[in-house]
Amino acid sequence: MYQEIILDHYRNPHNKGLREPHDGEAHHINPTCGDEVTLRVTLTPSPENALDGSATVSDVSYDSMGCSISQASASVLTDLLIGKTVDESMRVLDEFTEMMHSKGVGEPDEDVLEDAVAFVGVSKYPARIKCALLAWMAWKDATVQSMQSEPRGGGDGLEGAS
Ligand code: ZN
Repeated sequence: MYQEIILDHYRNPHNKGLREPHDGEAHHINPTCGDEVTLRVTLTPSPENALDGSATVSDVSYDSMGCSISQASASVLTDLLIGKTVDESMRVLDEFTEMMHSKGVGEPDEDVLEDAVAFVGVSKYPARIKCALLAWMAWKDATVQSMQSEPRGGGDGLEGAS
């Protein structure tokens, strides 16, 4: 079942293809497997116009090449994190990272991880853990970068429209 979820995302990746506008971008590579990902994050400021943990991850797009695990993981990430606040997304990231270091014996929280629980089996294979984590590390980098940037639009309120 889990294998099927991974293959599905690999064959039909969601949100693949870099989009504009974006606030942060990160390029990460996993040399042991040859995986590469470039990932962009767009944040929508909170009502206080702050790009902090209360901002919403309004878009994540990426371009990638590599193995099925790294590709599927990026696709699952975008499904999970788009629409959540930065704080919520960081919790998902923590939960995912913990699961990937559980050596296959963890009990991942399916309410938090949704489709990402499919990767629990991967955590048994040390060589593949980096494949699964690649996009997540890139997302974290790009998001931290985004929070350090000025809100787009100079705070004219246009971005609060949605
Ligand atoms: Zn890989």
